Amino acid sequence: MLRTSEAGSSRMTNSLPDTPLDVVIIGAGLTGLTAAFHLKEAGLSLHLVEQRERPGGVIESHSEGGFIYESGPTTGIISHAAVPRLFAAFPDLMCTASPEANRRLILKSMGKHTGEGQTFLPLPSSSLSGLKTPLFSMRDKLGILLEPFRARGQKENESIAELVVRRLGKSFLDYAVDPFIGGIYAGDPHRLVTRYALPKLYALEEQHGSFIRGAIAKARAPKDAEAQSVTKQIFSTSGGLSQLTRALANHIGSEHFSYAAKGCHITRTAEGLYDVQFTTDGTTHTLRAHHVITTAPAPALPSLLSFLSTEDLAPITALRYAPIVQVA
Ligand SMILES: Cc1cc2nc3c(=O)[nH]c(=O)nc-3n(C[C@H](O)[C@H](O)[C@H](O)COP(=O)(O)OP(=O)(O)OC[C@H]3O[C@@H](n4cnc5c(N)ncnc54)[C@H](O)[C@@H]3O)c2cc1C
Repeated sequence: MLRTSEAGSSRMTNSLPDTPLDVVIIGAGLTGLTAAFHLKEAGLSLHLVEQRERPGGVIESHSEGGFIYESGPTTGIISHAAVPRLFAAFPDLMCTASPEANRRLILKSMGKHTGEGQTFLPLPSSSLSGLKTPLFSMRDKLGILLEPFRARGQKENESIAELVVRRLGKSFLDYAVDPFIGGIYAGDPHRLVTRYALPKLYALEEQHGSFIRGAIAKARAPKDAEAQSVTKQIFSTSGGLSQLTRALANHIGSEHFSYAAKGCHITRTAEGLYDVQFTTDGTTHTLRAHHVITTAPAPALPSLLSFLSTEDLAPITALRYAPIVQVA
């Protein structure tokens, strides 16, 4: 499945196999590893090509002095049945956070001027604490009672900020939604389009005409076993999230990985297949496959997918990435 040639020469040391691989995956971060895990379970042949020397992508856990630090993500939320389904293969790994971890503190300036009298206030977790909190204005708290009767939005690509101000009020945008969106996307709610960034929230208004009516209908709807497995708990893995990516890589098998792969690019063959070419330690390799999944970030795509025109790639390459760092 892998043909190799010395860098700078066209001499092949192996010939192409008769049967191409089903799938080549570019990138061995959580997305590439999870895709590979499921494809392998489905009996498909595959190979992962990764430019770093280890799996995990942005996930990297460090241990020091009895503490575990993450330089990428720290936790996830069991917000989809795919999470428990994946962890079913690694039952000892998942650990869920204590309910204390649900407590979120929001910094609010209590003085008249910005930055004056700043204090941390807990994000309310019940209707009563929602009524009492100084985070939201009295006008917006009372306005919540009218939320079920407000008209639906008319704009298909309405931003999260527009939707929240329209239905809940500005103080809910500033002290609940903006910090929440910052935590997920490191993004600006004025620029993020609700139906893509928060599809579940968008669906509540679309299907039920109101967040409150939609939330009540969802809570009342009967849940099958899969829906019951979506517990919304915060989870991590014992020993840090790298344990999950390492377990996935071990499960997939080291023979299905090429690490430290440089200059990866993909071309189409006359038969409609894909040739994935890259070098490791000065040796050039070519993998032929029916399908390629790339999990590389948008800026890497023009050189990876050189058979696509700049125009075709433009909607992806124009994506903006927010630079973020994790401080422990
Ligand atoms: C600091 C930080 C904190 C975060 N916190 C959270 C959190 O608490 N909870 C949460 O749910 N999410 C969090 N996220 C988001 C989450 O980490 C990511 O969504 C997820 O890990 C992305 O995985 P991925 O495989 O798509 O991408 P990546 O992890 O970026 O993996 C992509 C892989 O592709 C490889 N690659 C790129 N280009 C090439 C190429 N040309 N050839 C070969 N290989 C290539 C890269 O080396 C990398 O290994 C956080 C992200 C960051 C950066």
